[in-house]
Amino acid sequence: MTVSLLGATEIRRLAAELDVTPTKKLGQNFVVDANTVRKIVHAAKVQAGERVVEIGPGLGSLTLAILEAGASVTAVEIDHRLAERLPQTARERGAADDSLTVVDADAMRVTELPGEPTVLVANLPYNVSVPVLLHFLETFAYLERGVVMVQAEVAERLAAKPGSKIYGAPSVKAAWYGPWRLCGTVSRQVFWPVPNVDSLLVGFERDETPRGDGGERRRTFQIVDAAFNQRRKMLRQALSGLYGGSAAASAVLEAAGVAPTARGEDLTVDDYHRIALVQPEQTP
Ligand code: SAM
Repeated sequence: MTVSLLGATEIRRLAAELDVTPTKKLGQNFVVDANTVRKIVHAAKVQAGERVVEIGPGLGSLTLAILEAGASVTAVEIDHRLAERLPQTARERGAADDSLTVVDADAMRVTELPGEPTVLVANLPYNVSVPVLLHFLETFAYLERGVVMVQAEVAERLAAKPGSKIYGAPSVKAAWYGPWRLCGTVSRQVFWPVPNVDSLLVGFERDETPRGDGGERRRTFQIVDAAFNQRRKMLRQALSGLYGGSAAASAVLEAAGVAPTARGEDLTVDDYHRIALVQPEQTP
């Protein structure tokens, strides 16, 4: 079955028909270029027969490219007008009826995904990109890999390594689930409306064995937040609030094999996890 993609004129026509004026609040910058949506699907190595979850399908440009690759799609869209219209668009463009399931909801509140998709592909709304990614990685263990388009700065942060200026709490939290890599640039001109920031593609692959359970993750993220809230301070100071003083924090850090004088930006996710595993009462 051949699926035909949407061009710039068709996207604007669809928006006019639905009386949709793109809003900043919902990060509505629609891709109006078929090469770009194909490039995203290619970067994600989407295979025929796979099930993909797309966050924010909008008018359907990326959705159709995923369907064109022979995958099926679970699409989560917060804007009711867009969610309601999407199945009709997919049908009109040649997609099989059973290849698309639309969830009309806020992606931040979704706790189940029909079809248990293994791949995430999305042009994410800028304002919620990191929280929504972390929510999906945390909630849907069946998600094995993904490629998303986000603001360039956010993509660089997600893929950043310790010691770099942009390495921050999102870098460590994202790395909890597996490695991230930058995988392509996107011109501003392919969006309608044209945004005033650059975008990049960033991809992840989930580790085969989870790093730790939910309790360990929450504790690790709490330590990460404390470390980066005062990123210029040494860890023994930055974590003193969590451990009831800098001497106690130093003892925990030493027990984890981390120098108390190090700063949050020097540590890997493994280091943070080891700190989280130390029980303060076991330190001398
Ligand atoms: N995928 C489409 C494309 O590439 O043209 C649209 C991408 S646009 C950057 C972001 C989309 O996410 C919009 O359709 C917007 O309505 C939707 N959106 C924004 N916040 C959302 C949320 N919390 N949950 C689900 N969808 C959301």
